Amino acid sequence: MSDTRHTRVLIIGSGPAGYTAAVYSARAMLSPLLIQGLQPGGQLTITTEVENWPGEREIQGPDLMVRMEEHARAMGAEVISDYISSLDLSQRPFVAKADSGMTYTADAVILATGAQARWLGLPSEEKFKGFGVSACATCDGFFYRGKEVVVAGGGNSAVEEALFLTNFATKVTLIHRRDSLRAEKILQQRLFKNPKIEILWNHAIEEVLGTEAPLGVTGVRAKNVHTGETVEVPCDGFFVAIGHEPASELVKDQLELHNGGYVKVEPGTTRTAIPGVFAAGDLTDHVYRQAVTSAGMGCMAALDAERFLSGEE
Ligand SMILES: Cc1cc2nc3c(=O)[nH]c(=O)nc-3n(C[C@H](O)[C@H](O)[C@H](O)COP(=O)(O)OP(=O)(O)OC[C@H]3O[C@@H](n4cnc5c(N)ncnc54)[C@H](O)[C@@H]3O)c2cc1C
Repeated sequence: MSDTRHTRVLIIGSGPAGYTAAVYSARAMLSPLLIQGLQPGGQLTITTEVENWPGEREIQGPDLMVRMEEHARAMGAEVISDYISSLDLSQRPFVAKADSGMTYTADAVILATGAQARWLGLPSEEKFKGFGVSACATCDGFFYRGKEVVVAGGGNSAVEEALFLTNFATKVTLIHRRDSLRAEKILQQRLFKNPKIEILWNHAIEEVLGTEAPLGVTGVRAKNVHTGETVEVPCDGFFVAIGHEPASELVKDQLELHNGGYVKVEPGTTRTAIPGVFAAGDLTDHVYRQAVTSAGMGCMAALDAERFLSGEE
């Protein structure tokens, strides 16, 4: 038998966007329910140092997320360990069904299900994640001042990340499996002109190489896709830049998506095309993808939801 609970505001996701939305909607006396999903705390729980959260010169990602959760609870949000498996936005109250068997109905929904970086899927990549392997140059580039890095990928994000990393690194090697890039021509021109960037064409990453104690990257081994020959490229950091996957599965047939699956919102707001449904954070953002921008959008979503609900009263 399944139970049903009703809430004014249902927040789906427990990253910076979800927890910030929870703090704001709790302080607006909306008694929000927040569903954490399979990754309580979101993407920052899989990183180590975060150096760009204002007010914290350096904080471990998982610690920051524990503090956000405590903050949301202290303000009066109810944080629930559950996963939303289906969401019906066709009528109000909106209906969310969870893995636990619970059904949540809500007058307003804030979608904050985030995104996941695409990884190569190598065991060595997994091993060194946060210890020299990254999927975010904006987040981690600063750690590679005066060092050498490798970027894997061939699209816009790979080229942008490689160019951005030249601000810090002495040498950036871009490794791509094909003999041409998919990135926009203008980006390619900038890449080819940059003296710090070297390109290794027709090579696929086979393994990330590194040390055990301390855990750290020393290079990558890449295989020529035509000849099968392998080459080792020394580096201190390895950036995987093969795209992101927004977690928009729940709403893909109900809301407009763009730029490869990101939920479309009215510019300058978090309003989707369905009144009462708001979206925040990496789920809607293919450009910035930062904790602080996600938190900012979480705040906007709570304020938008509060205005929407009070406008109905
Ligand atoms: C390795 C790494 C390092 C990073 N370092 C930095 C950094 O130093 N600084 C920085 O600003 N940014 C950094 N980022 C980016 C930052 O983590 C993201 O921009 C931010 O976490 C996005 O927040 P979000 O709230 O939108 O979503 P996410 O953090 O992606 O959280 C999404 C949440 O939604 C939940 N969820 C998903 N589907 C469901 C469902 N069906 N039901 C219920 N819940 C669901 C998940 O469990 C998760 O809690 C890093 C990212 C990575 C991967």
